[in-house]
Amino acid sequence: MAITSGGHTGYGEASLPPYLSENTESVLRFISTVDRKYLKVIANLDEQLAYIESVLPGNNAAKAALDLALHDLRGKTLGQNISEMYRIPQGKPIYSTYTIGISDEAALRQKLKAAEDFTLIKLKLGSPDDRALVETFLQYSDKPFCVDVNQGWTDRGYALEMVRFLEEKNCLFIEQPFSAKNKENNAWLRARTKLDILADEAVQRFTDLTEVAETYSGVNIKLMKSTGIHEALRMIKKSRELNLKIVVGCMAETSCAVTAAAHLASLADWADLDAPLLTTNDPFLGLEFNQGEVKIPQFSGIGIKLSSHFT
Ligand code: MG
Repeated sequence: MAITSGGHTGYGEASLPPYLSENTESVLRFISTVDRKYLKVIANLDEQLAYIESVLPGNNAAKAALDLALHDLRGKTLGQNISEMYRIPQGKPIYSTYTIGISDEAALRQKLKAAEDFTLIKLKLGSPDDRALVETFLQYSDKPFCVDVNQGWTDRGYALEMVRFLEEKNCLFIEQPFSAKNKENNAWLRARTKLDILADEAVQRFTDLTEVAETYSGVNIKLMKSTGIHEALRMIKKSRELNLKIVVGCMAETSCAVTAAAHLASLADWADLDAPLLTTNDPFLGLEFNQGEVKIPQFSGIGIKLSSHFT
């Protein structure tokens, strides 16, 4: 989406993974409900975002689209990028994970080739063949890796066996091992390993964090869950207070939201921002990867330009 005001245009997007129950209609409905007088640069961005929050509960991705567009617009108006607007220190290199879905050996080798430049691999797990998949990966790669189980484990015995194996193989962290609803199993596993157990599906917004910290040792913060940049920054601060490790991640998003997220990544322990590589119809030019290192263009606002195919 785009908001034009004062000669500048700010861009935002909503990405809609099925498990979060929003769809194109609900996003358009939400945006049409918003009072137009808030969709421009006004003196107080906090007030603007508080109003958007008050319109209706839920609608996290729709709110994120507006939060992103208003940040992009404000940054362009001020001639500042997101890092400058929030005084986020930049300069420390940020390396994104490259995600490899559940694959057979041939597909895995092919994906590792595509991941050649990346220094950190994220393996998707959650099938009965998890151990074999990790073993195949280790046969072809000595890169550091982490795993995302996507709530795929259901049996404590299987999970603990996998965790022991992953400890031995120096896995960096395990994301969402059991169902987000199953606090007991996730907490049980966390109590039995030194590896960080991260919440993804189990954490959406700021108000989730205190409870999540009882079960997990880290969180995956994504703009589409947090309703955008403003609350994601509050979540990062609160997560540090709660001693939680932090991944700044993304959904299936274009360079628009992922470049915005990249501005926050220097505040996190890990970045998982490879979605634009999997987007074949990205309307924007934004972050780039150089040997797996995230490079944010020096444009004001989010740091994106509309690709020439779309202008
Ligand atoms: Mg995940």
